[in-house]
Amino acid sequence: MLNNGLYSWDHDRRFNSYTEYIRKTFGGRLQKVVVDAGFTCPNRDGSKGTGGCTYCDNNAFNPSYCNPKEPLHKQISKGIEFHSVRYRRAQKFLVYFQPYSNTYAPLSRLKQLYEEALSYPGVEGLVIGTRPDCVDEEKLEYFKELSGKCYLQIEYGVESCNDKSLMRINRGHDFKQSRVMITRTHDLGIRCCAHFIFGLPGETLQEMIGAASEISALPVDAVKFHQLQIVKGTPMEKEFIKSPGEFHSFTLEGYISFIISFIERLNPAIVIERFSGEVPPRFLHQSTWALIRYDNVLRLIEKELERLDTWQGKYFS
Ligand code: SF4
Repeated sequence: MLNNGLYSWDHDRRFNSYTEYIRKTFGGRLQKVVVDAGFTCPNRDGSKGTGGCTYCDNNAFNPSYCNPKEPLHKQISKGIEFHSVRYRRAQKFLVYFQPYSNTYAPLSRLKQLYEEALSYPGVEGLVIGTRPDCVDEEKLEYFKELSGKCYLQIEYGVESCNDKSLMRINRGHDFKQSRVMITRTHDLGIRCCAHFIFGLPGETLQEMIGAASEISALPVDAVKFHQLQIVKGTPMEKEFIKSPGEFHSFTLEGYISFIISFIERLNPAIVIERFSGEVPPRFLHQSTWALIRYDNVLRLIEKELERLDTWQGKYFS
């Protein structure tokens, strides 16, 4: 709700924007630099499963400058150089441990990697992507300690609030496990983000919109949303070819309209980091609107919010 021209998140954009949150917290832009520390994941190495989540191909998400064979400091320096073409003014960085499950190793190894990243000049903190079943009390205690020294955000892949969908995509954990781990992380004062995918097979539009109330009730600081993108060569691609009617494939206009209905019901206290994902078109089964860059999708969402005179949390109760 507007108060003196500002929403409850203290700026005039119509959603609780991550960019604005970072600007307010750090006084300027912070560039995320992705690293691939060579982790695997329990849903691939056999401890939980072997096939992985049915949609997963980490190559499709990994930036070109990441090479797990190179030491972290080299990946960070290449990442900074890569981004400096577009964002010349970025002087501060967050190292983003993104591919696979970045807490899936003994604590001593994790400490070595995270601390190496933090020692790089200009690095203000870490974002660590993982699964809710790859974190334990020992690691959480360490994250709590680290949170007192630098910016730290743990990013959990939740993907859906619907256990039927989680089973169908072979996720290897249920929604309750995500809720328990997010709550524990939050209770220890560790910043926490949750990642969700819209358009999983078998989920209707109404079910997806209905998830806004469950996500709103999670003690998360931030969320990231992606539309399902069907990557070539994945089990999900086979499923899609066999039963396309099981999938809600969004057009760009349909996705924008869905996102607006969704965030109108979303807790306004939750920061939104992303509304959609980008996979290079060469990886995709169908490129649909993949050629439209995220900045443009964001612009269209904000324009539509303005046109409809609506905002995040308008119908949240
Ligand atoms: S999406 Fe993540 S958890 Fe699933 S198989 Fe891929 S790396 Fe593992």
